[in-house]
Amino acid sequence: MSKNQGKLFVITGPSGVGKGTLVRSLLSAHSQLFVSISATTRQPRTGEVDGKDYYFLTTAQFESMIEEENLLEWAQYAGNYYGTPKQAVLEQINQGKTVILEIELLGARQVKENFAQSQLIFILPPSEEELERRLRGRGNDAEEAIKKRLARAKEEIAAQDEFDYKIVNDQLESAIAQLEDIIFGKQEVN
Ligand code: 5GP
Repeated sequence: MSKNQGKLFVITGPSGVGKGTLVRSLLSAHSQLFVSISATTRQPRTGEVDGKDYYFLTTAQFESMIEEENLLEWAQYAGNYYGTPKQAVLEQINQGKTVILEIELLGARQVKENFAQSQLIFILPPSEEELERRLRGRGNDAEEAIKKRLARAKEEIAAQDEFDYKIVNDQLESAIAQLEDIIFGKQEVN
């Protein structure tokens, strides 16, 4: 790895834990960070914008990205495909930028395997009850989808020790401060 390669951070945690809010706050305070936009076959939620929140693809489009090896990692989650487009991330890392991926467990494992320098961060809910409350409170998923997400949440929480860092998202401000410490260390360089 050359000296000016950027860092790669992976943020994982069960659906409903508040990863999206954490990553958005981080980006608004540190616009120099590059947050990868994932591809997915899931339907857009109200307010989500193609090319900003996700690249919303058909299954055929997603599968051709897999075949053409255009994804850095990918996984199936609650009945849909999700993956990280490779080119943009590699370009940013090669330019020395710090890159953030907000992805689920299977993808995080793939990144760890392929990028020895990656740092994995797991976001935990204060409790499983609170997680379920947040997931249901969001009100944008059908019961079937919520059940799949809760089942997957348990599997992800069980794998928390595979991660380099853990943060409990109890108070947003404190969780952000912990994330900043991990990403920037004491001194903010890029
Ligand atoms: P949601 O449907 O709630 O936006 O995302 C569902 C799950 O997919 C979340 O855990 C989210 O972190 C994960 N996810 C989003 N983008 C990607 C991706 O590019 N790759 C993988 N492996 N997971 C992703």
